[in-house]
Amino acid sequence: MLTDTFGRRFYYLRLSITDVCNFRCNYCLPDGYQCQHNRDFLSTDEISRLMRAFAQLGTEKIRITGGEPSLRKDLPDIIAAAKQTPGIKKVAITTNGYKLPEHLPSWLDAGIDAINISIDSLDPRQFQSITGHNKLDTIMRGIDQALETSDVTIKVNSVLMRQHNAGELNQFLTWLKNKPVTLRFIELMETGDNKAFFNAQHVSASNYKTELMLGGWRPMIREKSAGPAQEFYHPDYLGKVGLIMPYSKDFCSSCNRLRISSLGKLHLCLFAEQGLDIRAFLQSDDVEPLKQQLVALLGQKAESHYLHENLTGATTQLAMLGG
Ligand code: SAM
Ligand code: SF4
Repeated sequence: MLTDTFGRRFYYLRLSITDVCNFRCNYCLPDGYQCQHNRDFLSTDEISRLMRAFAQLGTEKIRITGGEPSLRKDLPDIIAAAKQTPGIKKVAITTNGYKLPEHLPSWLDAGIDAINISIDSLDPRQFQSITGHNKLDTIMRGIDQALETSDVTIKVNSVLMRQHNAGELNQFLTWLKNKPVTLRFIELMETGDNKAFFNAQHVSASNYKTELMLGGWRPMIREKSAGPAQEFYHPDYLGKVGLIMPYSKDFCSSCNRLRISSLGKLHLCLFAEQGLDIRAFLQSDDVEPLKQQLVALLGQKAESHYLHENLTGATTQLAMLGG
């Protein structure tokens, strides 16, 4: 099992397969994707070896992310390869869902277990002003299609922003009444590129927590292996609410994940000082050297991020690593 010097166990891998994105989310890529390398993304063979090595070291869950992962045409092959990796119990994806109704059948055929979709506003105009795209209706149609035709787990990610959506809690809760999905409000995080935006828009999710508790929402019992989201349920609602509060005390103590960039770098933290290049180890079917390297590199994992001190490490925006 991959365990760090602070006793944290890493059973969850977040694998970015591209950093390209077609959206222009105001907190992430406000000017759209700007390519700064030769787009030599990990191949399906390299990805398969990587997943095999992680699985042999105890990884049980893989999340495929981006950039926008659905821009890669071989995404269904990658999902299938993850699903067929011995030891991997859950394969998930995080997507902006821009073609969800069209893509869903092939993802389901490939064996996807869970889909996280980013929706920062339920108001189509606000959604367009945040992302640069008028796609809310398509995404909502895709979610309904997934709920009606499959038993895949659906979560929705919504980044909290003072002036864009912080007043939308009730609208989101109304939507959750009859939808068996988990909606996670994520506190806006500072990155190298969004400092002014962060200073203007960051709000704590603690007010949401108070409002939820006053409205009869109750905290769910956390499993030992649970990630950092605090989750709430309500007896009158089919949906659940999660709060992801990276600025809260002890956020990093429940860290259970490692990250690989689309160019083959291991990131020990979303806000690490640098990615550690492991691509050379992905060229052989013998994954033993890769496993040894991963175990050795894990010794460098720090106890916590330094976001409180406005230190964002090498992370200029989250599209480069997948959140
Ligand atoms: N393109 C896909 C999507 O948007 O779902 C996957 C990649 S995106 C980087 C992963 C998640 O990170 C999204 O839910 C997005 O809203 C979130 N995210 C991006 N930048 C963020 C920031 N600065 N603070 C908090 N969440 C952020
Ligand atoms: Fe693209 Fe996701 Fe970043 Fe939005 S949050 S710009 S969809 S990578």
